[in-house]
Amino acid sequence: MKILVFGKDGQLGKAFQEELGVRTSKLLAKPVVQYVGSTECDVANEEVLTQLLNHFQPQLIINASAYTAVDKAETESDLAFAINARAPEIMAQYAADHDATFLHYSTDYVFNGEKYGYYLEDDLRNPLGVYGKSKATGEETIARVFASTRSNGQYAIFRTSWVYGDGGNFIRTILRLAKEREELKIINDQFGAPTSADWLAQVSLNLALDEHAHLRRFRSGIYHAVPAGETTWHGLACLAVQAALDAGVTLRTHPSAIKPILAVEYPLPAPRPMNSRMSTDKLHQVFAGWGDMSKLEQLNQPWDKAVRPYVANLAKDGLI
Ligand code: NDP
Repeated sequence: MKILVFGKDGQLGKAFQEELGVRTSKLLAKPVVQYVGSTECDVANEEVLTQLLNHFQPQLIINASAYTAVDKAETESDLAFAINARAPEIMAQYAADHDATFLHYSTDYVFNGEKYGYYLEDDLRNPLGVYGKSKATGEETIARVFASTRSNGQYAIFRTSWVYGDGGNFIRTILRLAKEREELKIINDQFGAPTSADWLAQVSLNLALDEHAHLRRFRSGIYHAVPAGETTWHGLACLAVQAALDAGVTLRTHPSAIKPILAVEYPLPAPRPMNSRMSTDKLHQVFAGWGDMSKLEQLNQPWDKAVRPYVANLAKDGLI
């Protein structure tokens, strides 16, 4: 089997390199995996992207590439749409035309956050900013391509939130600030689930591949993929700082000096949803239907379980 992974240098792309490596290391018949970053393939360049797909001929396409600069997107709409909507359309069309499997990623920002309770996969998309709009258009386009093409291919769009991994993210920003300042003010009225990139890559491959790294059949569509539970940015900041202190890092800020504030007190160019809670019942039902307790257990992992080891690893690697 041939697997093509876009976005190899991003948080999720690096997690896929790790996870695919682990899963295939002991296999006799290893899949051929090609990882590409923006240098090898600028996905905004339709010609280059199409050429790569036709040349490599993947049976599984994993799109971990994205335009993720949420605030900058407000003034770079064309580029955000080229990367987050048009490129996935081209990948989806290739997958549909060649009976391939396509894994793509989307975001809580496709919602306006006004719903009370947990968002479901079929809830109306109503993004607040350009980034969310470009990701929402990507979702719609992928579904349209597969619906209009006679194909044995399949796709999964994993909607996730608050991703942290090997790269820039909220936790790393907070830890940097906690070294510099004695007090932090962090938003405490936006709710969501911090998601480890490693966890997300594992859950994705749990759906797409069996233990021999052969493709599984699943129902095409959107799947919410976030760990269990919820917190606020303030809750996440407090845990990250405490975990760093517990790992022996010297910080100027302690959890008691992290003050909760309202989102309106910290305006940003792109508005964010107040409620990013997403139900994972749909993915839950798939794994339950397969009778696979270990996959269910992993899906049900509480959000905070992965934060402590993540911060401890940053400390160990001297990255705080
Ligand atoms: P990152 O920003 O860490 O990585 C995105 C990657 O996309 C980068 O490696 C970047 O390459 C690559 N990329 C950007 N533009 C291009 C281009 N024109 N051609 C080729 N590659 C390009 O994102 P994450 O790993 O955090 O996100 C993974 C997915 O999860 C995305 O779909 C994102 O929308 C979604 N998501 C992320 C959240 C988060 O908090 N980060 C929250 C919710 C959803 P380079 O480094 O070379 O520029």
